Amino acid sequence: MDKYKQLKEIIEKSEKIVLFTGAGISVPSGIPDFRSDNGLYNEKTDDFISPEQIISHSYFIFNPKKFFEFYGNKMVYKKAKPNLAHEYFARLDNVIVVTQNIDNLHQEAGSKIVYELHGSVKRNYCMKCRKYYDLDNINEKEVNYCNCGGIIKPDVVLYEEPLDDKVVYKAIEAINSCDTLIVVGTSLTVYPAAAYLRYFRGENLILINKSKTQYDHIANLVFNEDVVEVINKIK
Ligand code: ZN
Repeated sequence: MDKYKQLKEIIEKSEKIVLFTGAGISVPSGIPDFRSDNGLYNEKTDDFISPEQIISHSYFIFNPKKFFEFYGNKMVYKKAKPNLAHEYFARLDNVIVVTQNIDNLHQEAGSKIVYELHGSVKRNYCMKCRKYYDLDNINEKEVNYCNCGGIIKPDVVLYEEPLDDKVVYKAIEAINSCDTLIVVGTSLTVYPAAAYLRYFRGENLILINKSKTQYDHIANLVFNEDVVEVINKIK
């Protein structure tokens, strides 16, 4: 049996599936992986600042203008729509999504349970009074101020900031109790994604990622191709 048929059969027979996603699942929706970007040019040091440095808590605090310049241009895609892969998994009612993405596309596709490890660009809060602002109510490319004078911060986990314990707990619990774990669009090198694989005790580990990962050898099925192409062959 070819591996696409095997994947289809595994999905049909599984009782509980966890879909763990990274940037790769949103690339077909036109959202590039910001980590592959060059970052920002720094006039003072005549050097480039990496994306990881820019989207850190301290950079946000000390250079909010530059932060939002990068964030708004490289990480927020208001017009992006869910693709075939988001939609396919949203139609399965036994799938829990754990995602590193902040683009809200799983929810937009209709997925009911989505644990967002790194937060969401959709939600924004005043740092002073905690007032909520939807993405549509702010300009993500510049510093936005609340009526109270506080800076409005995206509900996105920046470097140097801890993940939300409750979300992490639920994600681990889901991975720990599912029979099939499908990992899509992550090279499993960014913490904490790789660490979560250790909690999986189910039968079927499936990896779908354009490039090889260091976990390919322990997976039941590996697809080193675009996830939309894989879904096209099994839908
Ligand atoms: Zn406020």
